[in-house]
Amino acid sequence: MDLKTLVTPRNTIGIIGFARTGIATAQFLTNRGVKVYVTEQKKRDEIVDVDSLISLEAHGVKFEWEGHSPYFAESVDMVVISPGVSKDQPVFSFLDARKVPIISEIELASWFFKGKIIAVTGSNGKSTTVSLIHHILKYAGFDSYLAGNIGTPFVSVLDKSSNKSYVTLELSSFQLDDIKYFKPNSAIILNITEDHLDRYVNIDDYKKSKFRIFENMNSNDRIVINCADPIIASSEITNSSEKIYINKLNKEGSGFFLEGMKISKKTGVGEEIVLLDAKDSISLLGPHNRFNILASWALIDNLNIPIKVLRESINTFSPLPHRLQTIAEINKVKYINDSKATNPASMEVALKSFKDNSIILIAGGYDKHNDFSCLTDLVSNKCKFILGIGKLGKDLVDLWNKNSEYVKTLQKAIIKAFEIAQPGDNVLLSPGCASFDQFNNFEHRGQVFVDLVKEIEERNA
Ligand code: ADP
Repeated sequence: MDLKTLVTPRNTIGIIGFARTGIATAQFLTNRGVKVYVTEQKKRDEIVDVDSLISLEAHGVKFEWEGHSPYFAESVDMVVISPGVSKDQPVFSFLDARKVPIISEIELASWFFKGKIIAVTGSNGKSTTVSLIHHILKYAGFDSYLAGNIGTPFVSVLDKSSNKSYVTLELSSFQLDDIKYFKPNSAIILNITEDHLDRYVNIDDYKKSKFRIFENMNSNDRIVINCADPIIASSEITNSSEKIYINKLNKEGSGFFLEGMKISKKTGVGEEIVLLDAKDSISLLGPHNRFNILASWALIDNLNIPIKVLRESINTFSPLPHRLQTIAEINKVKYINDSKATNPASMEVALKSFKDNSIILIAGGYDKHNDFSCLTDLVSNKCKFILGIGKLGKDLVDLWNKNSEYVKTLQKAIIKAFEIAQPGDNVLLSPGCASFDQFNNFEHRGQVFVDLVKEIEERNA
């Protein structure tokens, strides 16, 4: 049976989870006259978006609160689940017993979206890449939307878009777990590292979930394969889609390449088109971001955007907040907020984004028992001084014991950094740790950094 035929006023669609995605899904289905039954763990009075709740209740949507009942499972013809809902709950056994189809919101939205879908998944770099693609497309005059894991549910784009539209989707492996026919026109897995292994049995399971992004694509579609990633490079992708390679030539002799900081495309006729040269300075810092730019280009190269327009759009793109974001330059010293770096791998890519011996590093925070010893050489090459903060800051200072000091708080770290920094230095907050020991979350930590730097900037204006 084509599941899409279930989306009619005759049927009841269940929604598990009533946060942003669940709300948008309920609104979309209600507007189509479909009966909707929402089940949510929280109490009714804990819902923040009360206006949407009241409006949906007025439109006849049925709600159940504080858990998912067997009655819900018996009453629905299909279920849409929100990202983050764990399937480790009894309601899923009841649904399975009745063979009720369970789909993600991404799947549902894809049935009704008339334009073209560009889909991005991977362990790292998704948000930056999808935001950049969206920015380029808008800059080049396309009717472009950004949705998925980045924040806007895909369903909420449907009523605004047309067959000329493009949507760029950030997809988590959790969203890909519940697709059926979802078929992007262009897709990439950026990279695969051991991540989320709490939810998957092993890396193979996690990998399988990511590779589902390609499973319904056909010869009209475009798959970008990152051959620089060992797990992706060693995996076979057997469908009929056009394959575009990163760091490898295809049989026609073309491919996309990142060599050092140079981004180029080799065409089948032996020509090399350079999008960015190593010396071109842009606000997206670091080799990892050059890769994200290359991946974006490879995904949308079939849209024939002139190279000049691509360059202009990349030059006008600002990094996302808390990801190697240059906040200020005071006395020729740059202050960079990389609060999103909550593990050693993110700290590593941040350190690699700067010249040797140019970083005053602010690091430390909540201890997740990660091993930082693998970064010792890199830290030694890149950092002039290390300022330890939070719970783990003391251990990091002891581990890397070159020029360093445990100052405990971010405020003291910035004061000290300002005192010791010389023109040409980079004061980098790249904590490598979670923030919960001193802050609500990484955004809070980043904002405190930004506010403190702005204060110093004003005092020195
Ligand atoms: P995601 O949405 O996948 O979490 P982001 O674009 O938000 O990705 O970047 C999060 C962090 O991942 C960055 O702060 C950086 O440390 C790291 N990162 C970004 N792009 C890459 C990449 N291509 N390869 C490896 N690490 C990356």
